[in-house]
Amino acid sequence: MSAVKKLFADTLGQVLFRPVRVVSARDVAPRFRRIELAGERLVGASFNAGDKVQIFLEAGARTYTPFSFDGAQGTLSLLVYEHGSSPGAVWGKTVKAGDKALCFGPRSSLDLGAQGGPCVVFGDETSFALGRVLREQRSAAQVQLLFECQDPDDAERALSNLDVEGARLFHRAADDSHLATIEEAVARLITTEQRCQLVLTGRSVAIQRLRVGLKQRGLSLGGQKSKAYWAPGKRGLD
Ligand SMILES: Cc1cc2nc3c(=O)[nH]c(=O)nc-3n(C[C@H](O)[C@H](O)[C@H](O)COP(=O)(O)OP(=O)(O)OC[C@H]3O[C@@H](n4cnc5c(N)ncnc54)[C@H](O)[C@@H]3O)c2cc1C
Repeated sequence: MSAVKKLFADTLGQVLFRPVRVVSARDVAPRFRRIELAGERLVGASFNAGDKVQIFLEAGARTYTPFSFDGAQGTLSLLVYEHGSSPGAVWGKTVKAGDKALCFGPRSSLDLGAQGGPCVVFGDETSFALGRVLREQRSAAQVQLLFECQDPDDAERALSNLDVEGARLFHRAADDSHLATIEEAVARLITTEQRCQLVLTGRSVAIQRLRVGLKQRGLSLGGQKSKAYWAPGKRGLD
């Protein structure tokens, strides 16, 4: 870590961020790491479905979704997808029990906390934690999950580790041709289910394509919530 970053981490970072320690970090499927963090300053913090945390890394903060949070114990759990060799992915891959970190949040990202009722969630490997949180908040029957992913078998194993069953997984085709199938499935679900909330997360380009396609079908996307979790060529989306 550079001297300036180290100085920040040792001084102002301790005030602005919450110091945490890694309780456990384990592979739950190829490219997926489940990480549990604990910190005294997490005790009493508030948490709503859809909230995010940012982990302070030398390259800048990286954003993740707690899939469980215990404000009494001061613990939270993350599922990090190791998509490549950029800073967040490397942190996820190499972090181990006993390591220290600084985290900012939990704080609001997608404002879904107070809402109940049926919803359809589209996303990818980065959205599995959100799927788990929403399933816990609203029940499995009310939350339909559709995920594009690089390897559906690995994705299934990761989801199963989070006790998320029955998600629909679509292999991410290089030409994005799978998005037409996903659009069809989402359109069917939101027209069949009364007052169904649509939540779009994950890859920016896929979200954009789905929004355009669903609008062209004349579907009202009024209550829709969307949040790009990553975008090709961009770093550290928040
Ligand atoms: C609100 C929010 C919640 C999030 N929750 C989670 C979560 O729970 N778990 C999780 O794993 N991620 C989550 N993410 C996504 C994560 O923050 C990004 O993937 C982030 O870019 C990872 O940092 P990095 O240093 O690995 O890559 P960066 O340095 O940020 O990006 C480098 C390049 O890698 C590529 N890239 C980034 N992410 C991916 C990806 N997933 N697949 C393929 N290529 C990619 C892009 O081309 C990018 O330009 C969330 C993001 C947001 C905004």
